Amino acid sequence: MTGHPALFWHPLDDGRIQCDLCPRDCKLHDGQRGLCFVRQNSGNAMWLTTYGMSSGFAIDPIEKKPLNHFYPGSTVLSFGATGCNLACKFCQNWDISKTRDFARLSQAATPDQIAATAKRHGCQSVAFTYTDPATFLEFVIDCADACHALGIATVAVSAGYLYPQPADALFSRIDGANIDLKAFNHNFYHKLCAGKLTPVLDTLERIRHHHATWLEITTLLIPGHNDNPDEIAAMCDWIIDHLGGDTPLHFTAFHPDWRMRDTPPTPAATLTQARAIAIDLGMPFVYTGNIRDPEGGTTYCPRCATPLIEREFYTIRSHLPDGDNRCPQCHTPIAGRFTVHLDGD
Ligand code: SF4
Repeated sequence: MTGHPALFWHPLDDGRIQCDLCPRDCKLHDGQRGLCFVRQNSGNAMWLTTYGMSSGFAIDPIEKKPLNHFYPGSTVLSFGATGCNLACKFCQNWDISKTRDFARLSQAATPDQIAATAKRHGCQSVAFTYTDPATFLEFVIDCADACHALGIATVAVSAGYLYPQPADALFSRIDGANIDLKAFNHNFYHKLCAGKLTPVLDTLERIRHHHATWLEITTLLIPGHNDNPDEIAAMCDWIIDHLGGDTPLHFTAFHPDWRMRDTPPTPAATLTQARAIAIDLGMPFVYTGNIRDPEGGTTYCPRCATPLIEREFYTIRSHLPDGDNRCPQCHTPIAGRFTVHLDGD
């Protein structure tokens, strides 16, 4: 067996083993793989088959994750594996999330090599992204520990579809997270993702209240499926009540992909309307993505409305004083992690 012993599973009385990582509860005979395809019963024990392998590395601006309040203007070394534990019909990374072709995992690297590469290229952080880090959790844990040993921060881009115990194992090692809240209706998760909404909400609350992880949220608005203004308002009310109104929220544009090629792209007006709804309800840090919208890319002071950080796609202009999280006009503290520093220099 190639791979790495997996965490979070238990044997069943009928001879199978059950994965306890995510709410799919895959029950596997010897040799079978879970729905994510990367966790496998081999010899009546669970293995992560993709440990140490990546679908490719890239150096990105942190704004591309997207994270707008987490070391803005810094660069992040990004990578993912294959496999995913959701089955979203609109997946924008389906070529790596749904592949069964392990030859796509072309780049092997150890956690120490990944951390050292980030440091050598001046990256503030390493991101586990493109596919869900929950599915390659054991590798993420080792990479995160290696990164922290070199003073490199860690970022997870995740759907948050996992059980509390593995969520704790993951987010206790993650400094910044962007979690997809794909919709605020159970039917959407059931029909379009083959998943459930409630575990995602549980993960969001867990990150916010049990971990020091900086949290931002992304909702990809898909015409006719999750862009109803009442649903957006209900989602924002939930975020305000359960996570805090200063949680940054990104509304991004859908483009036809994977099994939803007949659905039209999201009009820019839908994104700006959603942003206006969230702001009216009391969320000051709401952004639009995948469209050109200078206003929707700007961080404003929640008190005096001074533009603090302006973004044109991934080019940014910051007006925050160095090392200070306060508005230079009215001195209101701005939620986020703004001071860039690399330990161990
Ligand atoms: S992580 Fe994979 S194997 Fe485990 S329950 Fe989820 S889909 Fe199944």
